[in-house]
Amino acid sequence: AVASGPAEWDGTGTTSDGHRVKVLGNVGSPADARAAADAGAEGVGLFRTEFCYLDAADEPSVAEQRAAYAAVLAPFAGKPVIVRTLDAGADKPLAFLSPEAEPNPALGVRGLRVAFDRPEVLDRQLEAIAGAAQDSGAEVSVMAPMVATAAEAAWFAERVRAAGIERAGVMIEIPAAALSAREVLDAVDFVSVGTNDLAQYTFAADRQLGAVAKLNDPWQPALLRLIKLIGDAARATGKPAGICGEAAADPLLARVLTGLGVTSLSMNAPAVRAVGASLAEVTLAQCEALAEAVLATADSAEARRTARDAGA
Ligand code: PEP
Ligand code: MG
Repeated sequence: AVASGPAEWDGTGTTSDGHRVKVLGNVGSPADARAAADAGAEGVGLFRTEFCYLDAADEPSVAEQRAAYAAVLAPFAGKPVIVRTLDAGADKPLAFLSPEAEPNPALGVRGLRVAFDRPEVLDRQLEAIAGAAQDSGAEVSVMAPMVATAAEAAWFAERVRAAGIERAGVMIEIPAAALSAREVLDAVDFVSVGTNDLAQYTFAADRQLGAVAKLNDPWQPALLRLIKLIGDAARATGKPAGICGEAAADPLLARVLTGLGVTSLSMNAPAVRAVGASLAEVTLAQCEALAEAVLATADSAEARRTARDAGA
């Protein structure tokens, strides 16, 4: 059974036959980072840097940013950490960065799009992240939110490398990027799937609106089919593809995602142990069979039932 009884996990994300899937933490503050490290996360798959500045009136200086990021990275010295550049938008505003009111905030100038008009803000953040990486000793990679095309991914990767940061990636949370997963991966070192936004945009269902919440179910076969495209592209290119949306925190769905070719799962601290334990109970072949069965279902209820009935 999944996540029942005391979770057995040795702290290294692997299936029972030794296929490696890193189990990572989602963090936004030093307290989150400590909680993730204490929970046994092998690193950080998503550091939401905008959470440091939700109350900031002005753009923090490079020195201030460097200190704030280093405090979050500190518990992960010697471990991999993916720092996401500012994901500001009309729904998650930063006073110094967000555009004026937009009719459709989720479809507006948010995430990386903000940086196209003001690249100097991105460059200052990258300088601070590079400094924080040195200060903390964490193995830092950087990724951008809300990337729609391979050209945007290439533009971002060039700026990351110019800042002296070795590894550049992007989030895949827009269906166009999922459909271009191969081209996007060719432009960067890794991708990470934001299933919260990818579901929102796939189902045209506002993730903040309770009335349409049922559509934004990570077990929806249509969403999983998009993730399969990304897993296939990761296998073809030999580059990592993680999941950092809420989907990664479901121990049973974690097996399905592993079967789809995902190489890491990043989640809030409380889920780390149960997900690690769930993967340790099954082989990669079982995960792949499970993924195939779930992809063939008609809706999220049938997908869940199919996975539960598969047992293990
Ligand atoms: C996501 O969209 O799934 C994601 C991880 O990013 P955020 O929740 O911060 O938008
Ligand atoms: Mg997102």
